[in-house]
Amino acid sequence: MDKKNIDETLERIEKGELKLYSLEKSIGIDSNTATMIRRIYLEKKFGCGLSAVGSTALDFNDAVDRNIENPVGAVQVPLGYAGEIKVNGLHASRSYPILLATTEGRLVAGISRGISASNEAGGINAAVVRDGMTRDVLIRTGNVKEAASFSAFVSGAAGQEILRKAFSESTRHGKFIECRPYPSGRDVHLRFRATTGAAMGMNMVTIASKMASDAIVREFGKSKGIEAGIISESGNMCSDKKPALINFIEGRGVSVIADVFITAEILERRFGVKPEVVADLNKSKNLSGSALAGSHGFNGHVANMLASLYLALGQDMAQVVEGAQALTDAAAVRGGLYISCYLPSIEIGTYGGGTKRETQMEVLKMMGLYGDNDPEGASRLQLAEVIAAVCLAGELNLLCAEAAKDLSSSHGKIKR
Ligand code: NAP
Repeated sequence: MDKKNIDETLERIEKGELKLYSLEKSIGIDSNTATMIRRIYLEKKFGCGLSAVGSTALDFNDAVDRNIENPVGAVQVPLGYAGEIKVNGLHASRSYPILLATTEGRLVAGISRGISASNEAGGINAAVVRDGMTRDVLIRTGNVKEAASFSAFVSGAAGQEILRKAFSESTRHGKFIECRPYPSGRDVHLRFRATTGAAMGMNMVTIASKMASDAIVREFGKSKGIEAGIISESGNMCSDKKPALINFIEGRGVSVIADVFITAEILERRFGVKPEVVADLNKSKNLSGSALAGSHGFNGHVANMLASLYLALGQDMAQVVEGAQALTDAAAVRGGLYISCYLPSIEIGTYGGGTKRETQMEVLKMMGLYGDNDPEGASRLQLAEVIAAVCLAGELNLLCAEAAKDLSSSHGKIKR
């Protein structure tokens, strides 16, 4: 597009003849050109410069609709290398390069220190203990008796089979596990759970759960002569992007645990701290302190590791909310430190969503975990174990740093 055409287009936008968000459709231009015009329009309107925002590797012809609407450019976040982490997992069993996207100074260095100590200790063990993305479809019946009858219909073997069949017809990679009814007055929340191949699965499971709910409502009507209907495709018992104990207890996405045993010698040499001081701090801070605060997360800073990984890896950032409902535990045993981190809700994908964006895909490919050809989702489970290991390394470093700086000196003083 030449300058004359751009000026004419800007004039038409100003006059209200063209909508910013539909330039592509209205004047038949591609999304990269439309992005540039929107940016110039904003620069003029707000008297500002957006050249840094315009400097990006993103191809908006691919990103529009999939990842963004009405784009004007991109923000950039620094990406740091935290070294290779050795993971001894059920699914992940090698070393993985770790890149973290953050603007928080010292975060990469701190996590890197935790990784390095864990590697020296032989690597971090990790185990996926549950897998299944959930979605709650909210159904309304006429009264509590109808709600009870509908719940029983859903729970029965025939009901589960109706749901499984309809669910499976809408997705190739989503595999129905179960649907549990939770009645509330005349409403019934249907909490679906399914594995999702390589995808995080929120779109996939939402679409399939809606299809399955339509089918069960139809069959319930035929079988019992009672009318019921969907009033929301997401009734909040999923529970997506909100802190919720159901996710902590039942898990959402991948539930994964990481642990490592660090000898007292490694701990003292690397962090200048004793195992029992670290374990004591964990109890007082991550368990008692969090309990006193009524926290949903019993950990030091799991959100830091998740946010910096999710950004780098093209994950849905808002799901840090439930991901950070994690529990860090520690004990002084066998002359060293045993430390673990349980993450019940790691909602991630190695395919789909933001993983397709240029920089994020590069990072996943560097780890050997881009799952474009992975129908069973082995790459997603591997990634969950790597993420858990990085979270544990970050927890280890923070606890040791705090214990070394503050607690050990105050312990000394108290003793005197
Ligand atoms: P998606 O980008 O829709 O990816 C899944 C799609 O990829 C499905 O169509 C699936 O086909 C296909 N696919 C191809 N190969 C696959 C493989 N090997 N494994 C799995 N799927 C494969 O995304 P999603 O993971 O379902 O959802 C993630 C997106 O949802 C993110 O962008 C997130 O921000 C957004 N999100 C949506 C909601 C919501 O309520 N809708 C909530 C939170 C987040 P089949 O289905 O036929 O298998």
